[in-house]
Amino acid sequence: MNFYPDLIAVHCAELVLKGRNRAGFTDRLVQQIGARLTSIGLHWPIRHRGARLLIEIGAERDRLAQALQALGEIPGIAAYFPAQSCGWDLAGEDEDSLANGPVRTLLLDLARTLHRPGARFAVRVERHTHERAISARRLEHEWGRAILEETPWPGVNLSDPDCVFHVALHPEGVLVYARRHTGLGGLPVGSSGRVLALLSGGIDSPVAVFLMARRGCTVNCLHFSANYLDRDRADTTPVGRLAAQLSRYTQRLDLTVVPYTAFDLALTGPPDGYELVLFRRFMVRVAEQLARTQRATALVTGDSLSQVASQTLENLTTLNAVATRPIFRPLIGFNKQEIIDFGRKIGTYDISIEPYKDCCALIARRPKTRSQPDRLTALEAKRLPDYPDLIDTVLGESIRLRFVAGRSAGAP
Ligand code: ATP
Ligand code: MG
Repeated sequence: MNFYPDLIAVHCAELVLKGRNRAGFTDRLVQQIGARLTSIGLHWPIRHRGARLLIEIGAERDRLAQALQALGEIPGIAAYFPAQSCGWDLAGEDEDSLANGPVRTLLLDLARTLHRPGARFAVRVERHTHERAISARRLEHEWGRAILEETPWPGVNLSDPDCVFHVALHPEGVLVYARRHTGLGGLPVGSSGRVLALLSGGIDSPVAVFLMARRGCTVNCLHFSANYLDRDRADTTPVGRLAAQLSRYTQRLDLTVVPYTAFDLALTGPPDGYELVLFRRFMVRVAEQLARTQRATALVTGDSLSQVASQTLENLTTLNAVATRPIFRPLIGFNKQEIIDFGRKIGTYDISIEPYKDCCALIARRPKTRSQPDRLTALEAKRLPDYPDLIDTVLGESIRLRFVAGRSAGAP
């Protein structure tokens, strides 16, 4: 007989900390898992069991790998594993009947299914029940011996096994499984409020978006483009594809693309090295206005301290001065290589390094690394005299695209 998982157990992350809000968090997670599975055509029922969810694997068991991949992209999940359940009421059970009952048969099936020549195994029993008469240690021993005697597995290795057979004893039933997948952790999207992220086509800002989504924020993005994008083809540009990839983690993501031609045209006077900081302040001002209409509480950027000229402590402070909302910079203390490694893991790095023109044209050969807010305000009054009008113009020229669970979903 073969071992066939009939459900996926999902352990929620951090929900233990949430006291009375816990039910809301779990409901949100259930809803997001349900929506995500539905988006790939799987209508598998989900049951609540405290800090655990149980997803019943339906008739489409050949799609299990796809379902597992989707679960690996949903914030709020600590761990998940396909398991076979054994509806065994543990109340009043003792070790002998448990050791020789149906769990043993399941475990032997699992061991036969996963047998690899030369590999060593361990049996781990987790006790989530208070039945006094059951000792996890003894069951591990009994079942380990049964596997050695009745299957081709040659030996046990408790400290560094090639394969672990898990048995989780819950009051309402027993789960048998082998592979435990680590989830993203964090909190379900939507449980920490809404933010607007400035998304460039670069390496850093996509990672910043991911980190905010993993902490439970609903994230929408704003991109400044050197060109007017064709609405029908915007989702095939690098920034459109970055947004699509990020929507695997944010679940849903609205991307507003603003062409900044009007800024270039409005900027008067000869170059003085402040253009980049002026442009960054312009981005923040436009973002503020958009955040107001989208009811986003904070802005997010991919700044990392002193990575480039516009990210010195002085320049970042100068940017904060034009925002009324907090600007979150989750990468502020990251090294570039750490950001690259992260980008690779979340599947954005390869898109980020494709050639793409965003605001490079504005970078003076010697951009100023120091700037005071007052000086810049005076400079803005001189070089960009009609600021409110400029912001209305660029937002009027913007397009908005929606992405859901990794795919373009057209205009919102
Ligand atoms: P990234 O890799 O995220 O582009 P970077 O190292 O190129 O970052 P900058 O170009 O100074 O650094 O950008 C700093 C931050 O400003 C970015 O992380 C992003 O949040 C925002 N930003 C820069 N360019 C754009 C743009 N064209 N549209 C929207 N936001 C942008
Ligand atoms: Mg950039």
